[in-house]
Parts: sequence; structure tokens; C-alpha cells
Amino acid sequence: MWNEEYDVVVIGSGFAGLAAAIEARKLCSSVIVLEKMAVPGGNSTISGGLFAAAGSPLQARDNIADSPELMLADMLAAGRNYNHRELARIVAERSTGTLLWTIDDLGVKYKPELSHLGGHSVPRTYNTANTSGAGIIRPMLVRCREMDIPIRLKTFLAGLIADENGDVEGVEVREDYIFPNRESGVGKRIRAKQAVILATGGFSQDKEFRAVQNPMLTEDIECTNHRGATAESLICALAAGATPVQLSMIQLGPWASRDEEGFGVGSMFSMLAGFPYGILIDLHTGERFVNEQADRKLLVDAMLSSGRESIAIVDEMGVRHASTLEQCLKRGVVRKYNSIEELAVANQVPLAPLQATVASYNTLVEQGRDDRFGKPIPRDLQPLTHPPFFCIRLISKVHHCMGGIRINAKAQVIRMASHQPIGRFYAAGEIVGGVHGASRLGSNAIPECLVFGRIAGANAASETPRSSI
Ligand SMILES: Cc1cc2nc3c(=O)[nH]c(=O)nc-3n(C[C@H](O)[C@H](O)[C@H](O)COP(=O)(O)OP(=O)(O)OC[C@H]3O[C@@H](n4cnc5c(N)ncnc54)[C@H](O)[C@@H]3O)c2cc1C
Repeated sequence: MWNEEYDVVVIGSGFAGLAAAIEARKLCSSVIVLEKMAVPGGNSTISGGLFAAAGSPLQARDNIADSPELMLADMLAAGRNYNHRELARIVAERSTGTLLWTIDDLGVKYKPELSHLGGHSVPRTYNTANTSGAGIIRPMLVRCREMDIPIRLKTFLAGLIADENGDVEGVEVREDYIFPNRESGVGKRIRAKQAVILATGGFSQDKEFRAVQNPMLTEDIECTNHRGATAESLICALAAGATPVQLSMIQLGPWASRDEEGFGVGSMFSMLAGFPYGILIDLHTGERFVNEQADRKLLVDAMLSSGRESIAIVDEMGVRHASTLEQCLKRGVVRKYNSIEELAVANQVPLAPLQATVASYNTLVEQGRDDRFGKPIPRDLQPLTHPPFFCIRLISKVHHCMGGIRINAKAQVIRMASHQPIGRFYAAGEIVGGVHGASRLGSNAIPECLVFGRIAGANAASETPRSSI
């Protein structure tokens, strides 16, 4: 009845799945990674490679006081306290250890400066050297090769198979599957002698499923994710008895560009330069309307209110932080103007209010305090007085699923009917719900996926193996 068997079967080849596979293999389990798409890496490989860590070496170098407690407080504030606190605490506590694992063990290269992303109290975000999650995924794939961990592509998880005790014993897959054709491929059953780890990511691209959870997310709202971020594996987990958590908590990214598809190159421009070093303007009034460094939920709510259209403006000084500037200019996602007047005319912003907004912003930067919106004014923030000026037209796009299935601190999936772990079944990464509550902070998913991927892998590999067939 089984076609193959391994000690540990991992589904999904992103941060969480590969971290789990590496950790389980380190403990001598035989491991296979199954991936439905024709290429590995999911959202992880197209991500921005931003990694938040509390108490890191770069913070020590820059005299930035931080702690896991402060990072946790930031996560809870952004998450509006919907977070499953114990899981969030584990992410914060292990963030720096996990970052150092990527550097010392995997050889990941990061830029030598930290970024300060919205909603974080202090600068704590590392940037991969190539401004991409591929900078972490590639060394992980190399490590998998070195450790003889097969990554079987075009292999779709169609169902979870339980034994007579209700523990997970294996998976039903379709090999040579062609996404998204559910009938494609050949059916096969793969047994897990120790455990199955689900690391299949979120469902932001699943327009039907996401609209069921949040009807405001209509089909026409664009998405930043890879095409395979769909809900079938979540449905498999629920069918196996897993507990759903906050499935309607789906995040929109406030920093995406109106002038390109998906995450593109503009999102990183806004995140690293436009928001921290510039201003966000209502196109029709020429006025600021929010703390540009607020968490994503607050920003999106403010941006969507009354059908507002927004642009971000930054000057020659602030734009130095934009690692994707060249591509943005080449693709017309960011435009460059010699003066505020020129920018106002080109974007049809009323000039006098815009000039007044820039002047009052410059005053508050000089005074070091934003009494109206509460934007943090760090010492290196400069007034917007250095032409040329750069502008991006913004639109919010579906970006992240905070909701998913419930796990405990050991990454065991919790059965809805009993509130107890489902035997030999683990999950990690974006498929898991609760860590980030109502809103995830930028750069917190990478630590989450790697931290819980490693926990899941280590615990799966410590399960007593069933005897071979
Ligand atoms: C464009 C973009 C930029 C981002 N930038 C950042 C950032 O800079 N910092 C940060 O912290 N977070 C970032 N995020 C969020 C973060 O990248 C994701 O939350 C994270 O990569 C999820 O990792 P994962 O391993 O859980 O899932 P994924 O990386 O998505 O991997 C899941 C894999 O499972 C596969 N799969 C799904 N269903 C099945 C099935 N039925 N059978 C077999 N395989 C299946 C998928 O094809 C996919 O390859 C970004 C997200 C996006 C979309």
C-alpha cells in the first residue's frame, strides 16, 4: 500500500520546509522534501530577505539597545494582541541565534547596515547582500544537496494519511504534477516512519479561499505572492483534524507600486527609503495623513480610507537607502524630479498644500518630534531639502496570511476536537496561524519560518521510528 518510506516527510521547500529538513537530517533521520511547483523556494525565494533580530551583532556595533522582550512587545502591538503569545515569544527569543545560524552555518551574507522598518521600536532588520530571500534559500538548497536530502519537485500533497490511532503516517501525493491542474500527475503514497512536517506557506493567491475568509479581499485586489500560494494543503490539514486559527487575518502590503505587478522592485523602495526617510501624501490633498513608520495594518487602513490615492516622496539623501532604486527608475516604478513643483505638476498634486506639507515636515524633523502622527524621528533623518526628489505611486496588495493552523511550542499540530497534538504531525512557517496576530511586522516572517522550521525538524527527528514496511 506504500510506494516509498522516509523517516521524515517535509511538504514545502521554502524557509520553513528547508530549515526543518536540514535539522531533521542533522539528527540522522532520512528526509525527503516534496514541492508541488517546478522550482523550489515558494515565497521565500522571492522575498526581500529582510530578517529582524533582537540583540544582534550589528545592533551592538551601533549601540542600539534592544531585547527579545522589546521585539515581542512590538509584535503584540502590531498584532493587536491577537498573537499566540508563547509562539511570538519563541520567535523573538531565538531571532538572533537563528540569524547567526544562517551566517555561521549556512554562510548567508548580509549588508553591513540595519534597516528600521515600520512598527519596530528600533532598527533591527538585517538585509541579505542581494536584497532577496534567495540569498538564504540558495545556501539552504546547497546544504540539502550536501546532506543528501532529495527535493522532489512537481509533487503535490493531495492528502494526509492517518494510522489506526489517528497519528499521521504518511501522505498521498501526485507526482509529475503540473500546477494548477489537480488531475495532473500520478498518485503515490509516501510513508513517514517518524513524522510529517507541513511547511506549505500561505494562501494569498487563492482568490476564492481568501474571499471566503475576508469578503473585502475581492478578486481584483492584486497580490505579491508566488502563484503557488494557494489553500489546498491548509484544507488537507483541516481535513486531518487540525485547528484553524484566525484565517481571516490576511495582510495587505501598503508599500507596493501601482505601476508594476506583484511585489516587484517598488515595494522594497518604499520600505527602505520612501517610508522611513520620506513622506506619504494623499494625492488629492497634498497632505500627510499617517505615521509613515506605522505597522502595516495602520498604514493600509489609513490608505484605504475614503478611497485615498497615495504617493511616497523622498529626496536625494533618503534615496541612498533604496537598494532597488536603479531597477525602479529603469522600470518607471519610481520617477525622479528636479523640484517639488515639477513633482506636483507631473502627479497632479495641488502645489501649495504640498509645499506647506514638506515645509512643516522639515520643521518637525529639525525639532525631532512628530506631534501629529508620531513618526519616530531618528538622528540620521534629514529634512526633505535635497533635490532631486523621487516619487512612487502606491497601492495595497494582498501579501501575508497571519492565519493558518494551530501549533504548540514544539511545532506539533493541535487537533481541533481534543486540543491535543495530532501524533507525528508538525507544521511551521506561514501555514501556521497566531504568531503575528492581526498584523505581521515586516522582516518577522523569516525568523518565524526558520525558528519554527528548525524546531519542527528537530522534534520530528526525535520521534520513535515505526518499524519499516
Ligand atoms: C514578495 C514577498 C516578499 C517578502 N519579503 C519578506 C521579507 O523580506 N522578510 C520577511 O520576514 N518576510 C517576507 N515575506 C514573507 C515571507 O517571505 C513568507 O512568509 C515566507 O517566505 C513563508 O515561508 P514558508 O516556508 O512558510 O512558505 P513558502 O516559502 O511559500 O514555501 C511553501 C512551499 O510549499 C509549496 N506548497 C504549497 N502547497 C503545496 C502542496 N499542496 N503540495 C506540495 N507543495 C506545496 C509551495 O509551492 C511553496 O514552494 C515576503 C513575502 C513575499 C510574498
